[in-house]
Parts: sequence; C-alpha cells; structure tokens
Amino acid sequence: MTDRPIDIRSDTVTKPSPEMRVAIANAEVNDDVIDVDPTVKRLQDLCAEMLGKEAAIYMPSGTMTNQVAVRVHCQPGDELICDVNCHIYNYEQGAYAQLSGVATRTVEGDFGVMQLDQLRDLIRPDNEHMVRTRLVCLENTHNRGAGRILPYENVEAVCRWAEENGLRRHLDGARLFDAVVASGIEAAEWAKHFDTVSVCFSKGLGAPVGSALAGPRDLIQLARRHRKVFGGGMRQSGIIAAGALYALENNVERLAEDHANAKILANAIRETEGLSLEPENVDTNMVIFRVDSSLGTAFDFLAALEEKGVLVLTVSPAKIRAVTHLDVTDKEVIRAGEIIQRVAEKLKDR
Ligand SMILES: *Cc1c(COP(=O)(O)O)cnc(C)c1O
Repeated sequence: MTDRPIDIRSDTVTKPSPEMRVAIANAEVNDDVIDVDPTVKRLQDLCAEMLGKEAAIYMPSGTMTNQVAVRVHCQPGDELICDVNCHIYNYEQGAYAQLSGVATRTVEGDFGVMQLDQLRDLIRPDNEHMVRTRLVCLENTHNRGAGRILPYENVEAVCRWAEENGLRRHLDGARLFDAVVASGIEAAEWAKHFDTVSVCFSKGLGAPVGSALAGPRDLIQLARRHRKVFGGGMRQSGIIAAGALYALENNVERLAEDHANAKILANAIRETEGLSLEPENVDTNMVIFRVDSSLGTAFDFLAALEEKGVLVLTVSPAKIRAVTHLDVTDKEVIRAGEIIQRVAEKLKDR
C-alpha cells in the first residue's frame, strides 16, 4: 500500500471532518439575501463577539471581504497604503483598481512589518493633482512573510498614527486566529486597532468555504450593499456557514498543534545543507525556505519532493513554502522533514 501524499501546499487544502459534516448536514437554513438565515446570523454574531466589533458579515472568500472593505473605506481616486508583499496587493488581481478605482502606495516591509518611519511622509497633501490617502491595510499573520505575527506594539503604533492622521484601518486577518493562539493576545485586542477586520474560515480553521468582515454596524451595513454588487449575496448559505461556525467553535485552540508541527519541519530544514529558512524564525504554521542554486531551482526541488509524496508550493524561483494544518499529523510532518533532507542530499550529488 502506498501512503497518501503529505499535502503541505497550503492550509486551504483542509477538508471538512466527519463532525463538521454532521453540523453542515443539520444546519438550519433560510434566505440570507433577505437576512433570515439563522445559521449565518449565529456565525456573524459569534464572529463580531470574538473580534469585539458591533457586527460581522459572511462572504464567500477572503478576497471578497478585503475588497468589500476597500470599497467601504474608499472612493474612486483614493489611495491605500500597504506592505508590498501583502495579499491585497499581490493576490487579488488589483481588484482595488478594477472594482473600486482605488490606487495603492506600497511600502517595503520586513517580512510584512512596516515601520512608522516608512509611513510618515506618505500622506498626500490636499491638492487637486493628487489621489487622496485614505486607508492603511495590515496583514496578520503575514502570508508572504511566512506566517509572521506582526509585533503587537508595531500594530498599535501604525494604527495610532493612521487614526491621528484621519486614515481608516483595515486588517487582513485571514490567519488572525493563528496570531491569537501563538501570541496569547485575544482576537478583540488585535482587532480594536482597526475599523474593519477580515478573517478566513477555509484556511487553518478547516471549514470548506468563507470569510467574514467585522466592524461597526454602519460600515457592515454598507458592506452588505457592496457584497451584493460584487456577487456575494448567497441564499441558503447556512449550509456552508455551519462549517465555519463549527470551525470557530472547535478548531481555534488546536492551531497550536500546527505551529508545533511547523517548528518540527523548520528544524529539519535548518539542519539541511543547501536549504535556509526565510525568515529564520517560524511564528505559526508556515515555513518558507530558500533552495541554494547548487541544488537546482525551487521547481526542481518541488518536483523531486512530489515524486517522494510530499506536496509543497514555490513562492519564487528559489523559494518553497510549506504549511502545516489539521489534516497532517506530527508523524507525517516528521516524515516530510526526512524526505526534504534526503531530496536535498540527492540533488547535491547530481
Ligand atoms: C487566503 C488569504 C486571503 C483570502 O483568499 P481567498 O482565497 O480569496 O479566500 C486573504 N488574505 C490572506 C493573507 C490570505 O492568506
């Protein structure tokens, strides 16, 4: 019998557990577009409560919650400030421009962390030649920063500066609960510095579909309007919201297991000649490592791993990403580490 592949491409590959499927099968549903689906309402209420906000709204994807947030905060001709490696800037097709007529000003952060000194001069003067600086977006944990947790004091300082200068603040918290579990700082504590916060249920939390945007009641009411025009009004969406609700109620604390597994993987990579972690520290469930050119490219390395039953992703021609999650066990992660070491040995001797 061949073992199943160890799939550590992403925490989005997680599948609903048998218990989650029971919750989904038994979900009470109704038409959410007319705002009467009881399961969606329960999910939204729980989300708002956990994030310390007045209201929350369920949407099909994290891209949609982020882009609806941009639309809520900005008008055409406005500009948002963000880290150059963030998801909103890199992985959402420039939707802020396509859908909302918004420009971006990017900052070269350190694995996602922008310093106040880099931001201070970026606010445009009130001048008809220029776009209007309107919004700052942060991402926590940081995806291309290898799951890095933004330092709390940094978040506090950047958000205070933004508020003092009349800028709105949005947090892309697709993996905020990883930051919560690893830092011991409550979700609401992180969220209180922001006007709006988006979280994803379909990553490490293990639900099949969805994301939520939380914030003040008036902004979430506006978000509801934009969700509709972006095509995100769903009817009996309690069916999928039930999986998200199950995930929030059962799968948050266990994220610590994924973090422990990522450290196991990181240790194996640290000990391997030709591989180096970037960044060196692993905060949560993601590991990014550089493949030295003496071993070939990241694509060569990925192909060799795949042949041995380990699935990963490349994030650049020289870098590979691995993500731990609830569908990989510690034993599988140990084995993946051994396979990574063996593949590196073999490629060195080509
Ligand atoms: C996954 C992710 C999103 C949302 O992605 P979708 O695929 O649209 O759900 C947003 N931000 C970050 C940081 C992410 O990792």
